Amino acid sequence: MSPKEKDLHQGYRGPTLELLKRFGITVWCEVRARTTRGDFVGLILPRSETSDDLHLVLKLSIGYNIGVRHDTILELEKIGFREAHYQIPEKEFPTDPTNPSVKLLGTGGTIASRLDYRTGAVIPAFSPGELYGSVPELADICNLETEKLFGVFSENMGPEQYLALAEKTGEAIQEGYEGIVIGHGTDTMHHTAAALSFMVQKPPVPIVMVGSQRSSDRPSSDAAQNLINATWAAGHGPIAEVLVCMFGPTSDLYNLLHRGTRVRKMHSSVRSTFRTLGDIPVAMVERGKVTPFKEDWLPRREDREVTVQAVFDERVTLVYYYPGMHPDVIDALVEKGYRGIVIAGTGLGHVNRLIYPALERARDAGVQVYMTLQTLWGFVQMNVYETGREILELGVVPLANMLPEVAYIKLGWALGVHPGDPAAVKGLMMTSIAGEMTEGEPHDGYLILQGGIPEVQDFLGKVWR
Ligand code: ASP
Repeated sequence: MSPKEKDLHQGYRGPTLELLKRFGITVWCEVRARTTRGDFVGLILPRSETSDDLHLVLKLSIGYNIGVRHDTILELEKIGFREAHYQIPEKEFPTDPTNPSVKLLGTGGTIASRLDYRTGAVIPAFSPGELYGSVPELADICNLETEKLFGVFSENMGPEQYLALAEKTGEAIQEGYEGIVIGHGTDTMHHTAAALSFMVQKPPVPIVMVGSQRSSDRPSSDAAQNLINATWAAGHGPIAEVLVCMFGPTSDLYNLLHRGTRVRKMHSSVRSTFRTLGDIPVAMVERGKVTPFKEDWLPRREDREVTVQAVFDERVTLVYYYPGMHPDVIDALVEKGYRGIVIAGTGLGHVNRLIYPALERARDAGVQVYMTLQTLWGFVQMNVYETGREILELGVVPLANMLPEVAYIKLGWALGVHPGDPAAVKGLMMTSIAGEMTEGEPHDGYLILQGGIPEVQDFLGKVWR
């Protein structure tokens, strides 16, 4: 396909491309589509390269985008043409010598996107000028410099990206920035937060991860508030740890700062999707103020010392146990050469008897197996029931209240730190180095201080005087 043609039919391939060509239609044409399901009038939007080749995407005049399957389309009639503008007005980011310098490292996700109202196409907004154009408050907070490392949705982040991000973060710290902000898709932000917590230890400045559940053109977007609070926490906040800064309550009152090893995305669509698990959040942040809830955080320092250990052995996996699991699931991993397996077990850390022989075979093959919990809150306790004791005897190592994804990331990192030294790997796994295992959990931590429903908060406010 010539570059020109690619431009005319952005992202369309196979049967949908043929259909467009047959009726002389290009992207941005306004069309009347006669289909077996009725007529639709709308604008043909570009198709993402990774989407299937079976659907045309139409933006209807009421604002919704619909996918129309190519084989239901009888005729496409061109009735107009409206091309999208991919440019966000760039304004020069003003610098103020009294403001701290903050480096924003971009990896992608919704936070890096803005939807074009007229067309529904998602376009990137990333340079400082573009960010200033869309969130002018940022200039009052810090002197911002940006660097786009990747432009991916976060399901495409992985070990390769973790290593590059950890290295870049370490470099930015040494270059003298007073805070680091990392823009990231929300879906796997907690994996990356865990990776950075292990790979970039004891940073002298805050490393604040931020994303958004809704793109910045939508009235309900959380992008601006999240960015404002994240840059504040990075540039001015006292907590020098890897933190996730996202909406606290459902409404736009304040953000929470979650510790990178204790945080998880817990809802697919609400803005207050990130919750601290097994603890309370480290702090809250509202415009111009970081209020710590906890006392055990690491304070900001003037020096530039930081320990960067950007390593990861990819031969690790996370197995979500389910009743009825067969041993061949574990056997297959051992045969394929995996070196470490984290199990998310039921209850206090259980799996069925059926897989015991496979766990034994894994142990004999030198594969490290660790136990975490599907319940997410609470501790692995393998001494309570007979099952637990039996599993312990098979060499499975309990990981206290380390979250399953965090354990997976830590195991990959630990195997990278100590290649060929299983005892050292186990020692590292059993030592809490970034808050991934705690002494105890607050009994009400998952309800208190994590932002409630406004009516409930109001009610509680009246009762608690
Ligand atoms: N799928 C997106 C991502 O994780 C969602 C988001 O950015 O919030 O990259």
